[in-house]
Amino acid sequence: MTKAHPDPIHVVGGGLAGAEAAWQIAGMGVPVILHEMRPEVATFAHKTEALAELVCSNSFRSDDDEQNAVGLLHWEMRAAGGLIMSTADRHSLPAGSALAIDREPFSAEVTATLAAHPLVTIERGEIAGLPPAEWSSVIIATGPLTSPALADAIRQLTDESALAFFDAIAPIIHFESINLSKAWFQSRYDKGETEADRTAYLNCPMDRAEYEAFIDALLAAETTEFKDWERDTPYFEGCLPIEVMAERGRETLRHGPMKPVGLTNPHAPERKPYAVVQLRRDNALGTLYNIVGFQTKMKYGAQTDVFRLIPGLETAAFARLGGIHRNTFLNSPRLLDGQMRLRADPRLRFAGQVTGVEGYVESAAMGLLAGRLAAAERLGREVAPPPETTATGALLRHITGGADAKTFQPMNVNFGLFPPLDDVRGGRRGRRDRYKGYTDRAKADFGAWLAPAPVAAE
Ligand SMILES: Cc1cc2nc3c(=O)[nH]c(=O)nc-3n(C[C@H](O)[C@H](O)[C@H](O)COP(=O)(O)OP(=O)(O)OC[C@H]3O[C@@H](n4cnc5c(N)ncnc54)[C@H](O)[C@@H]3O)c2cc1C
Repeated sequence: MTKAHPDPIHVVGGGLAGAEAAWQIAGMGVPVILHEMRPEVATFAHKTEALAELVCSNSFRSDDDEQNAVGLLHWEMRAAGGLIMSTADRHSLPAGSALAIDREPFSAEVTATLAAHPLVTIERGEIAGLPPAEWSSVIIATGPLTSPALADAIRQLTDESALAFFDAIAPIIHFESINLSKAWFQSRYDKGETEADRTAYLNCPMDRAEYEAFIDALLAAETTEFKDWERDTPYFEGCLPIEVMAERGRETLRHGPMKPVGLTNPHAPERKPYAVVQLRRDNALGTLYNIVGFQTKMKYGAQTDVFRLIPGLETAAFARLGGIHRNTFLNSPRLLDGQMRLRADPRLRFAGQVTGVEGYVESAAMGLLAGRLAAAERLGREVAPPPETTATGALLRHITGGADAKTFQPMNVNFGLFPPLDDVRGGRRGRRDRYKGYTDRAKADFGAWLAPAPVAAE
């Protein structure tokens, strides 16, 4: 006896990632059961029972697919027939080059479209533990506010340190914007087995006057408040915001993340720095560096002003700014394979913000990809993920191996995640050509990746 359809894939979480994953799976002719806990169980941020609710801003950011990495991600999702993008386009609001969305009709239409699809079943209710063993293919897309019962079960399956509940995000800087006539490569006390280990950090020196000015700016900077529910979550002593450290004493940072020991400045070997800011390589490509120990609650505008006071970072371009937020996410570089499956239990895939991407669009993109990979596997036609020259592939590569597992923090899509282009001028002046080069290459490669994909069937 042959079955009309393969067994269903279960998607847990009907947010941006889960809704897109369900759409892609059904589009490939595989039945899908989408489990959403709202309205039975609420989160502090969602206000409705609609699928794909936008919990905060109504912006999908830049829609420029030639000069902007998130705009390129829009392009790729449209090319892949994404439900989130096509619905967003129908409910867009005027916002210059950004894509802003009329949130209620958007979510209502995503919900109605999925509910009307003959291969989609929507079940309301919390999955309050690991999915039952008889669900042979599952995508977990429960987002930054994954319910505690499911989060606990995932933590037991992985280990204590594999699931974070806060981002303590240090700012990340594009390497090309760092002034190497002031900064230098060196690990403290030249520690390390290999030359790469011994030069794993970039160091920015400060003299006393520069340090005092930096502390003054830090103490004067405007900060964002912790929300009540954030205050109650224990996390603090291990990752204090730098401005809180500075409030505890003007010398605290100099004895903490900014200690000047074990380092010699080759640009001025005779002068001992009073303090040193260290940056650590943030991706395998070496295009991004994070400022070590610099998690902060400073407002974004204040951060750029304060961090550009650091010698060597005067013209820093930020891939992301620092922050501290409630956010449940996996240590994906350690836990997930290149097909987004949990190494410890490969019937479970993860998608969306819980994988350590950041943002509505990135979350939906990872849902799109997980849905396609799961459906292809179910149909016995396993496909390779898109190449890392595409925005979708670059994000996937970052979360499943490109990022350093030890310092992994959620990431927006940005051109720093893309393999460099050989034949395009570097530096600020070459930027427009370089970004155009990235997006042209990505579109060609994404088109080629889509070409052999299974044709939609209903
Ligand atoms: C407070 C807050 C504000 C944010 N603001 C922005 C912003 O302005 N712009 C931006 O780009 N990004 C923002 N983000 C980050 C992120 O883009 C969004 O959280 C985005 O919604 C993530 O998509 P997702 O599909 O991964 O998760 P979600 O959209 O949160 O979807 C997850 C779904 O899973 C459900 N769920 C959870 N646990 C279970 C369970 N055990 N069983 C069944 N269902 C479950 C939830 O109810 C939810 O519907 C914000 C995040 C937070 C927490």
